[in-house]
Amino acid sequence: LEEQLRHAQKMEAIGTLAGGIAHDFNNLLTVIAGYASLIQFNSQGSEVASMAAEIQGSVERAAEMTRGLLAFSRKQAVNLMPVELNQLVEGLHKSLRRLITEDIELAVEVSSVPLIVSSDKGQLEQVLFNLVVNARDAMPSGGKLLIRTERLQLNHALITVADTGVGMSREVQDRVFEPFFTTKELGVGTGLGLSTCYGIIKKHNGIIELQSEPGAGTVFSIYLPLSEELPEADSAGGRAQWATGN
Ligand code: ADP
Repeated sequence: LEEQLRHAQKMEAIGTLAGGIAHDFNNLLTVIAGYASLIQFNSQGSEVASMAAEIQGSVERAAEMTRGLLAFSRKQAVNLMPVELNQLVEGLHKSLRRLITEDIELAVEVSSVPLIVSSDKGQLEQVLFNLVVNARDAMPSGGKLLIRTERLQLNHALITVADTGVGMSREVQDRVFEPFFTTKELGVGTGLGLSTCYGIIKKHNGIIELQSEPGAGTVFSIYLPLSEELPEADSAGGRAQWATGN
């Protein structure tokens, strides 16, 4: 328990730092992008224009990173409304299949009872997307990927994403949710995938944790509180709850 508390405190501190930096960086990036496009416009056809285009490309990558950091920190709001998890997962089946390689067998098993959670659908889809990309990277020569939903006691839903990939050492497991922690080659991984997941699930009042064994595979478990409300047909005009900034 003490270790969990220490971990939570550490993540909280990193979140505060990351959120502050990401917020200020975003403002600076907006200025840089604005001037770069002005320079590009005023120097059309010259070498300067292609340099300005390079600047814009880098700004876009930096903006992508600050978006990841914002998702991790408390600075990005979530728009929570009732969502049925089994539908969400089954609706993603095809897109997830396209994300992974052919030598990976994908199975999706949803619970027989509906699982309504208070969720930001787009962000929850992002979480599954990130977990599946990581599972793919962990199985370079193929394997099995299982995505499951189930209802737990005490009004909770559980989503598990299990792979038969390379697994992680204890040291790696302890750090995976930190922003910028990656074991992938430079330019391949940003180390923001799982920290984004962590931030999003936290804002859903949920928990994300993992079990892993080197050489055998990894299971990510996401616990979400079930909601009493029914999902609405149209998302506009739904009773939105906004997570406040600090
Ligand atoms: P990135 O994928 O850019 O490295 P992530 O935050 O998504 O960033 O993941 C951090 C690290 O956690 C990865 O570099 C990898 O070492 C480890 N990891 C994540 N998911 C898995 C998995 N399913 N199997 C093995 N290792 C994983």
